[in-house]
Amino acid sequence: MITAKTLKLSIKSLREFARKRLPDQELIALDERDECPLEIVRDMCSPDQLGIQLLFVPEEYGGFGGGAFDVYVVCEEMARIDLGVATAVLATFLGSDPLTVGATPEQKKQWLSRIANEGILFAYGATEPDAGSDLGALQTTADRVVEDGKTVGYRINGSKQWISNGGIADAYTVLANTPSGPSWFVVERGAAGFSQGKPENKHGIRLSNTAALSFTDVVVNADRLIGGVEGQGLLQAQAVFGYTRLMVAAFGLGAGWSALDRAIPYSAKRIQAGGPLSEKQGYTHKLIVPNVARLEAGRAFIEETAQRIDAGEGSLNTEGAIAKYMSTEAGNAAAEASIQALGGYGYTHEYLVEKISRDVRITCIYEGTSEIMEMTISRDRWQLHLKTRGQHYHDRARAFEALHASQPRVGADVAALALHALAEVMERARVAKLTRHQHILLRLGEWIAYAESAGALARRAALLEQRKLPDKANQRFDAMGLAAISRIFAREAALRVADEGMRWILGAAAERAAAPDVAAFEAAVNLRAIRQAQAGLMADMDFVADVLYGRAAKPAAHVA
Ligand SMILES: Cc1cc2nc3c(=O)[nH]c(=O)nc-3n(C[C@H](O)[C@H](O)[C@H](O)COP(=O)(O)OP(=O)(O)OC[C@H]3O[C@@H](n4cnc5c(N)ncnc54)[C@H](O)[C@@H]3O)c2cc1C
Repeated sequence: MITAKTLKLSIKSLREFARKRLPDQELIALDERDECPLEIVRDMCSPDQLGIQLLFVPEEYGGFGGGAFDVYVVCEEMARIDLGVATAVLATFLGSDPLTVGATPEQKKQWLSRIANEGILFAYGATEPDAGSDLGALQTTADRVVEDGKTVGYRINGSKQWISNGGIADAYTVLANTPSGPSWFVVERGAAGFSQGKPENKHGIRLSNTAALSFTDVVVNADRLIGGVEGQGLLQAQAVFGYTRLMVAAFGLGAGWSALDRAIPYSAKRIQAGGPLSEKQGYTHKLIVPNVARLEAGRAFIEETAQRIDAGEGSLNTEGAIAKYMSTEAGNAAAEASIQALGGYGYTHEYLVEKISRDVRITCIYEGTSEIMEMTISRDRWQLHLKTRGQHYHDRARAFEALHASQPRVGADVAALALHALAEVMERARVAKLTRHQHILLRLGEWIAYAESAGALARRAALLEQRKLPDKANQRFDAMGLAAISRIFAREAALRVADEGMRWILGAAAERAAAPDVAAFEAAVNLRAIRQAQAGLMADMDFVADVLYGRAAKPAAHVA
């Protein structure tokens, strides 16, 4: 267990370390040289130096036993420093996850203790040249080596693609097909027949090492089969998806905020047309404030999911997918807008926002692409819609109506409008059998993520109002600020669900005559109320801009 105080101290040490060892000029130089700073990565992981690894290794193996919330806080901070270095450091946790969930006690002791005591680096080898999103297409094989009728080892053949730490790790968890199905193995660097490719020349995260792996008759002992039972690999991979996707979600959040935190002070100083850019509404309300709202919606979902995982609610894969989808898409949009916010300067290496934008791009690809997240979210929630005969999101909406009755400032009423509209859009998709169109299935994933995130953000703003957020929670905004951010996001989410939902349900009709009645559809999704709820948006955006720029506080308008 890590206390809020210990976590704060760790973050402080991490910042100190980064200030000394990874100042901006060094980051720019490493990025230009396309170089992974191996010594820095090792020092960050070494128990004698920074020892980030220790935070996440269970206490019985020599670590501090951090949970999902701690991982989120550290990942966000790491991403604010550099997403390539963050990837290199956190690859060890990704790599050791199959061990954490599936290993025998002896295997855990052997490998997790080495991470804690020696700071060894791991890599996670799942992806292959022809098996990316579809891991079932895996071709790497692990054939049994049998002596006297007993399996004494495995012979691994095949290749892995795009492996973070691929060229620098000490140990690798590798997914391979045994006679009984996909299974994880630990393979050490230096094993005969195991080789690593040259570092990939990447668009971003150039401070992380990414390499292909090749296995030619690599023989490992039977005790390298994680868990000792064949065929558990995909289950073990899935058991940590909620958790690992939260890590990448926090990467998106940290990188997005680090770009905005360069754009915000820049715009306060940059004078154009007689005044600072920060005072120009056309600038802040396009480039800054909407990105803040989307990032904080992602944060609300991350924090809520992390708390639930730590409370033992299971692996929460769908929630992890929503957190990842929202935060990484928001992080990308924020970094892209930050280039625009710095104009020509943003387009140069020196100001770093273009590097952050290149770096954060990966978060929508690795640990499951955004499209795979949409599919995961949609399939799961579709089942809930069917099981409850269309009531799932209506029920959830009613909980937000009740929240609104007690806390009218946090945007819960508009989140409820988004959720009711979602239920109606899903029901129309069901009646017309529209999920046969994969595009509709995936768009549903997006609308679900927006509506649920609006709910999470309203709940978070309500908790902050009541001073009930956990000690470890991010405290950047006060209750008034977060409530305004929540109202801004809820309006966007509701409009997106209703407008885009209608667009695609109508768009699936072959011709106008076959399309659903538009007026009835508008009434069902309550489009009128959703449009009316946009009132107050400008005042809330003005207020959030004032909060971000530290200007005199004015009372925020709200949609009570
Ligand atoms: C820098 C970097 C680091 C990485 N690190 C690791 C690592 O440490 N370990 C590891 O195992 N892997 C790692 N990966 C691999 C990463 O997880 C995969 O690239 C990712 O899962 C996507 O697989 P793919 O590249 O084969 O793309 P594909 O699966 O071929 O997807 C290509 C496009 O098609 C879309 N698509 C795919 N399937 C469908 C579908 N059914 N319906 C609709 N659209 C679909 C995708 O969303 C994507 O837009 C890394 C990748 C990179 C680039």
